[in-house]
Amino acid sequence: TELLAKPIEKIRTQMEDLQKADASISRIRELFATQSEIKDGPGALLPKGPLQVEFRDVTFSYDGDQPTLKGVELNLKPGEVLGLLGRTGSGKSTMARLLLRFYDPQSGTIALGGTDIRDCTLAELRKHVALVTQNIEIMQGTIRDNLTFYDNAITDKEIIDVLTELGLGSWYESMPEGLDSMLASGGGSLSAGEAQLLAFARVFLTKPGLVIMDEASSRLDPLTEQRIEKAVSKLLTERSCIMIAHRLATVQRADHILILDNGHVMETGRREQLAADPNSRFSQLLATGLEEVLV
Ligand code: ADP
Repeated sequence: TELLAKPIEKIRTQMEDLQKADASISRIRELFATQSEIKDGPGALLPKGPLQVEFRDVTFSYDGDQPTLKGVELNLKPGEVLGLLGRTGSGKSTMARLLLRFYDPQSGTIALGGTDIRDCTLAELRKHVALVTQNIEIMQGTIRDNLTFYDNAITDKEIIDVLTELGLGSWYESMPEGLDSMLASGGGSLSAGEAQLLAFARVFLTKPGLVIMDEASSRLDPLTEQRIEKAVSKLLTERSCIMIAHRLATVQRADHILILDNGHVMETGRREQLAADPNSRFSQLLATGLEEVLV
């Protein structure tokens, strides 16, 4: 096994690189999609605070032919946490992309706080809905701009307090010009863990009413894991949250569960009820160990 350890590690790293490349390609696709197809709505405003999230009979296809989501229904109450489960390719990220209007569904409606998301501007939508993934979107700009999205009402003290709380205090102190230090687009020198913690910092400062979190599937060092764990607890208590979950521990924090299978809602309900029902798909997943079954 010693002999195999190195090649296996190498394959693992290469696969991670491929996954990252794939993620960048879909981001570029999304940018183009945003520019060519998606139009600003008339300017409806979304309510402040935790948002209700509704999918009403949502059907969506990337190519206009094969549907990727089929008649998806969801009603998440303000402040609730949804555990979104399903195999790779079942449509979880697609639901996230529709919520951020990288694409619009062919039929059905997505509403936040009762407002059809096509009725507000993209800027308004993206102020209220944040995506937390391993790949934080860094803009060419200062740390301050990246964490506040140019909201001048957020003070430097608040920013530094949040960074310190997340364990990024010494990272911040090593920056030559403090909050005015430039962050290269793409994150440059940030480690994956630091990048994710910065994404949390952005959420805690800009306070969106809905966070979609795509949980990291790769391992981070134990200290970073611990910091992220703490940040997730805070994340879940102050807003509505959709978690694309890969781990059992994360799923246990959800109020509501939705399992996607090939674009259909296979099962949905309160987590406790599904867990208590021996015939539910969810309790079967819990019994077999989530990571094996879903990934
Ligand atoms: P999950 O997040 O559950 O792994 P996705 O939502 O990424 O699933 O993908 C659902 C389906 O849509 C898959 O069959 C995938 O190949 C397809 N798909 C995802 N992104 C695109 C895209 N940009 N263009 C065309 N098909 C896509």
